[in-house]
Amino acid sequence: MTAIYLINPRAQPQAYFGADIYADSGFGGVQLVADLTIATVAAFVPDDFTLRLCDEHLAAVDLDTEADIVALTGKTSQAPRMLELADEFHRRGKLVVIGGPYASLAPEAVRPHCDILVQGEIEEIAPALFADLRSGRWAAEYRGSQADLSLTPIPRWDLYPNSRALIGAVQTSRGCPFTCEFCDVPTYAGRRQRHKAPTQVLAELDVLYGLGYRSVFLADDNFTASRARARELLTALAAWNHSRPHGPVAFATQMSVDAARDDDLLQMCAKAGLTVVFVGLETASEDSLRETGKRQNLGIDPVEMVGRFLDHHIMVISGLIVGFDADGPDIFDRQRRFVDSAPVPIFSLGALVASSGSPLHRRMAHSGRLLPDQPYGTAQPWSTNIVPKGMSGEQLLNGLQQLGTDIYHPRAFGDRMLRMLERLGPYTGPPPSNEAVAPQTSLGRDTAAIVKSLAGLGAEERAMLARVGRYALRHRPDALPLIQTCLRFYAQIRHVYAQAGFLPTTEGA
Ligand code: SF4
Repeated sequence: MTAIYLINPRAQPQAYFGADIYADSGFGGVQLVADLTIATVAAFVPDDFTLRLCDEHLAAVDLDTEADIVALTGKTSQAPRMLELADEFHRRGKLVVIGGPYASLAPEAVRPHCDILVQGEIEEIAPALFADLRSGRWAAEYRGSQADLSLTPIPRWDLYPNSRALIGAVQTSRGCPFTCEFCDVPTYAGRRQRHKAPTQVLAELDVLYGLGYRSVFLADDNFTASRARARELLTALAAWNHSRPHGPVAFATQMSVDAARDDDLLQMCAKAGLTVVFVGLETASEDSLRETGKRQNLGIDPVEMVGRFLDHHIMVISGLIVGFDADGPDIFDRQRRFVDSAPVPIFSLGALVASSGSPLHRRMAHSGRLLPDQPYGTAQPWSTNIVPKGMSGEQLLNGLQQLGTDIYHPRAFGDRMLRMLERLGPYTGPPPSNEAVAPQTSLGRDTAAIVKSLAGLGAEERAMLARVGRYALRHRPDALPLIQTCLRFYAQIRHVYAQAGFLPTTEGA
């Protein structure tokens, strides 16, 4: 029997949307969002293969595996570790297969590290790939196209350590019609968005619900890119979520800010149980938005747009980027003023990075502005792989660190929490339930301990917790799940910043 060891390598670093703080606080490895990629690829592996999954965020990679074939997948942020593991398994005589977003975006970088390079999506090439692996007469390369998502099976969550993931995942579409210059999504997932049928999505949700997940990330590149399709799916999600026997699921997803123009759509999102959305606001500078082709963000008041989501009890998390060509040294103050006015507690702040395969990467390569010592284009908060134009590299990184320190000072974070809570409208989703869910209860206890540990950081943190807690108990007890989500993110961000040497303790301040 052919044996495959399928690995999701560790991301480096896990900054804003990671969960390193759990392991580093002694609670063991935790994933913020269960890894959909290895669970999906596993569903294509024929029954006559032996299969074992490893999510390295949750368990150490077994370098002594007896499997004949080691398959690795990963995004750009996982590339360094993915290639390191590939080389190690090669040395140990394994057949190494690499696929996934990074392999598709930077095949020339991956090629020397694997026997079989899989580019593109797996759906249409899986039968040939596994038949060849079974026979031992494989090709060095397989190329999948942008697949029809009706071919995507239900992921093999039965093989995944679900008790260590905070949030389940379902991908309902792939692709995005927009063309933001820094983004690699249109390159590997295409501009024509493809969709799963609502029945497929609900079948995947049934599995996650049965495993105990009560939070699910709809892992789409842009959930509302097609409004008609979003409406159709939201209608199905609302009916499904309102009829759950043991309490509803809280959904989170990603969408572009233009969705806020459509009040009816936001109402449907809220009714389905969507409570958190990632929106790429990116920058307060219209010149920088224009430069990067983020046309959907032009000519709007971003603070008012966030308010419209909040009116429907949908909390916004946003990206924040500095280092566009149009950004001079004044950008840090402009971004700080923008953050100070926005009811957005969590911003994923970082330097502009030219991700492999993105139009920005091509432009930077063409103009000789790629830094040779940062080959991966990994979105790290305190580094970039390009030479900035409007300031020196040192100014960029120093300004970035100061901006991060300022916006995540506990007082500034507390102000944004209260600003969000003051605007937050009533919850209109399926009635919540207090029923405890077995696999998630221990993670819930760990999360509560991590949030509580913020008080140990200093007087300012204790004051922030007391201020937010008082307001919530008096005025918004219905917002406690969102508050806990924000505080969990805040604890992770403070942890990452502390490791980088920022935000010294405010004890005695
Ligand atoms: S950043 Fe978002 S809106 Fe822009 S191309 Fe990428 S997925 Fe689409």
